[in-house]
Amino acid sequence: MEITFLGGASEVGASCHLLRIAGRTFLIDGGMRPAAREGQSRLPDLSLLDRHPPEAILITHAHIDHTGAMPLIASLFPHLPIYATEATKVLTEILLRDSVRIMEIEGLKPDGETPLYTADQVDAFLGRITPVGLDQSIQPLADAPDLLVTFLRAGHILGAAMLYITSPEGTVLHTGDISVTDQRTIKGLDLTSLPQADVMICEGTYGNRSHTNRKEEERKLAETVQATLEQGGRVLCPAFAVGRAQEIVLILKSYRASGHVSPVPIFLDGMVRSVCQAYQSQVHDLHPSLQRYLTNARRPLFTDPDLHLYAVRAHQRQALIASKKPAIVISSSGMLSGGASPLYAAEVATREKDCLLFTGYQDEEAPGAAFLAAKRGDTVKMGDKWVQLACRVERYNLSGHADAEQIVHTVTKVRPRTLILVHGAPEALEALANRFSRIEIEIPGPGETLVLTPTRVELPPLIEPPVLSEKSDVVPLPVTVDLPDPTVRDLWERARTQGPQRPWTVVELGKAYYGASYMPTLRSRVEVALKGAAPYFKLRTMGAQMIYLPRPQEEVEELHPLTMLTPGELVIVQGGKGTPHLGLVLAGPSNGQVALVSDQWKAGEKPLQMVQLVPGIERKQWLVLEHSEIKQQLQQWHKAIEQAWVDLFVLWTRQQGQPLTYEQLCQQTADETERLAYGIELLAKGAQLFKRQGGRWYPIGEEVVRKNVGFVQHLELLQAGAGAAVWLNGERWTLTGRSNWKLFEIRNHDGEVRHVRANLLSLYPSVEAS
Ligand SMILES: [Zn+2]
Ligand SMILES: [Zn+2]
Repeated sequence: MEITFLGGASEVGASCHLLRIAGRTFLIDGGMRPAAREGQSRLPDLSLLDRHPPEAILITHAHIDHTGAMPLIASLFPHLPIYATEATKVLTEILLRDSVRIMEIEGLKPDGETPLYTADQVDAFLGRITPVGLDQSIQPLADAPDLLVTFLRAGHILGAAMLYITSPEGTVLHTGDISVTDQRTIKGLDLTSLPQADVMICEGTYGNRSHTNRKEEERKLAETVQATLEQGGRVLCPAFAVGRAQEIVLILKSYRASGHVSPVPIFLDGMVRSVCQAYQSQVHDLHPSLQRYLTNARRPLFTDPDLHLYAVRAHQRQALIASKKPAIVISSSGMLSGGASPLYAAEVATREKDCLLFTGYQDEEAPGAAFLAAKRGDTVKMGDKWVQLACRVERYNLSGHADAEQIVHTVTKVRPRTLILVHGAPEALEALANRFSRIEIEIPGPGETLVLTPTRVELPPLIEPPVLSEKSDVVPLPVTVDLPDPTVRDLWERARTQGPQRPWTVVELGKAYYGASYMPTLRSRVEVALKGAAPYFKLRTMGAQMIYLPRPQEEVEELHPLTMLTPGELVIVQGGKGTPHLGLVLAGPSNGQVALVSDQWKAGEKPLQMVQLVPGIERKQWLVLEHSEIKQQLQQWHKAIEQAWVDLFVLWTRQQGQPLTYEQLCQQTADETERLAYGIELLAKGAQLFKRQGGRWYPIGEEVVRKNVGFVQHLELLQAGAGAAVWLNGERWTLTGRSNWKLFEIRNHDGEVRHVRANLLSLYPSVEAS
């Protein structure tokens, strides 16, 4: 076994390790040094890959010190498979896109550094990542069935994994970055299910530190926030966009809900906003209490305007910076070295009542460190600006890394023969090494290669033998090829039988369909099926997350034709139990919504179930009109409909004993206005004569209807038929045979035509005689 450290040894930054095991070669992480010093490369030493090119790439987590060089490495080896957890993939996308954008801006400056890679290289890299689930084992090389990698939960940030590699040459556990403490967003690593490994490569960021109690730090932070708000000040929390910012949001949200922090608005700005969305899109990996919150409260986790948690839009930022109202702003970057946070800090720092709250690591040269070192009245350099410090500055420890005690505890559980300490300053790693007496310890330097004895030594276990969680069936990746693709109906049936009343996420639906064989690579297949979800599920968004509530069977049948609506079709819409009106479809349904203009309102997105009847009438030529013009056209048509003589009583008498569907009705009448008129009448008044079930209208029994005196009168006039003589105010008239819900048309011998309510007419006595 051989391990080469291209970077991330005796330092925090540019983590990149080449592992040669059982004759095969893996690259673990490919990070950059975001705060490279003068003369130091931003990249790991990639020339070391020449001798032993990697055969597969494994990524522990999304942070830039583990992924920042990846687009470049991936383009050097365009055919290698790349594996990472699904959440890592999503978060890496946000981080790398931002980093390439900053590099491009920097590259334009006359003395700026050239970008390390382009946006295209980022895209190409992201597209090649095969997502892996936490606790899932994969076979990264198709021709090496005895070489398996399991992605174990590492805590730290969403999706962070430790890599447990088993091979004929022994086992290796690479920790990546780890957190033992449970955080609000995610649980810590699971000490009880750690496997034993021959070689352990372990991070030691805080190898010489011990963390204060997490809850205590959170309480102190909330107290400082409240003290600031009480004196009318504002709080700025510059925070790392991934992980830390989400923790602060949840801490402050909870203290505000319990009344310990005043109910002031919380604003999120910078990359924090998109990362919050990404966190929420990965529900299955979040802390179980957050999963319960999403299911029960059905509210977004982070941005939630109803709870005064806002994402700041670019055009609102300037006003917010200038505002003097008490508020809390959480913005990236965490060291005030870029992003939106320096813009706020430039103002907040100059105000005596305000407060700057740091919660994370500060690079020596970062403005954040300068603020922490400064006293009130000092001037601090931020970018090209000098700011005179007047506000309060505090720092609390919400670290996402294990401290010395926790690392020792973790190593003790893994019981490695060789412990390799990485990802930490030399003094932190040395301090850590002194904690162990009976393990062989290595602290490699950058560029160094360690050759380890290839023989495996079986140690008698002190604790239980390697226990991976129950679910961790070893599933070699190619297996998914044989699995079937679900149809949306399959997913609906699974959801309906297993939990008809609750909303489902994509992953839950995937698991319901594939069972134990589900893995993140199958998610895209489930998503493809869910493109046509609207007729089977009610769709709702919860932050960035789409959730699916299975519709009842009848509703599925009823809505089926609605999913085929095309632009230019005319439909009848009815919101709730309101009056039905006419609508022109602007765009076919998507996500359970359909874009319409109606005779009541201009264009709008409306839920599909508002569309009650589909007459199959088209006015495609109206699509080119302004929305207000379409509305006018519909209003005119609606007037024509009101004058149409359609009589539900006629339908009701004819249909006695058998249900009526709107489609049947349409087949009986060619006139489009009449079809629409019947539709509108059915929706507005049909319930008095029909019982509606889904799309079917069952005529109510005659005896029931006949109890209504007005109805009896109407029916008798109908039965008398056209030409029958009727009596109105002592004058003789005849029925023309045209009637509707309220009125009958009559004519006298002079040819005069009138429209009269049924109750004003009585049949002429001589009718019976003739
Ligand atoms: Zn990290
Ligand atoms: Zn790291």
